[in-house]
Amino acid sequence: MKIGILALQGAFEEHRQMLERLGVMSVLVRNLNDWQQPMDGLILPGGESTAMMKIMKDEALMEPVRKAIRDGLPVLGTCAGMILLDDKHLGCMDITVKRNAYGRQLGSFQTIYNIKGIGEVPMVFIRAPYIERNGNGVEVLSVLDGHVIAACQQNMLVCSFHPELTEDTSIHRYWLSVICGKH
Ligand code: GLN
Repeated sequence: MKIGILALQGAFEEHRQMLERLGVMSVLVRNLNDWQQPMDGLILPGGESTAMMKIMKDEALMEPVRKAIRDGLPVLGTCAGMILLDDKHLGCMDITVKRNAYGRQLGSFQTIYNIKGIGEVPMVFIRAPYIERNGNGVEVLSVLDGHVIAACQQNMLVCSFHPELTEDTSIHRYWLSVICGKH
């Protein structure tokens, strides 16, 4: 199994290390050429969604990535990666995401909290978004302080925080087994 990681900007290296720890091969996707390699899933990392959208357009990656996800490629979107999947960006998932949703005071914080089907996980929030609207086909997996911070829809799993910035591998393991159906 080989997992692609969108590596235009942001925390892609931490996701690569996480997969390495789990013994899973990965390929960093920086351009169309990298994208040609066969992959069993794709990780959209945290970072800056505006910058990632721009580089995706410049590299002509937007349409092929959108199509692959709509066709069922398993995807994990963390933080800015969750923003990329919403109805205002790639339009793959039936969610609307509020960017920088916690304001300045709570721009960054950490907690330990429950995710349905996974359990208690450490969460690192950095200028994090949350889901402000979700369609019927979306399963909410975690609600923190009244806001949806993790959800899934068919082949897509998203979270507001950065699971790759902790030692905890449970989100990646869950995604690999339940969404990719392989690990
Ligand atoms: N604030 C960023 C954005 O709007 C997301 C932050 C993150 O990925 N840590 O894209």
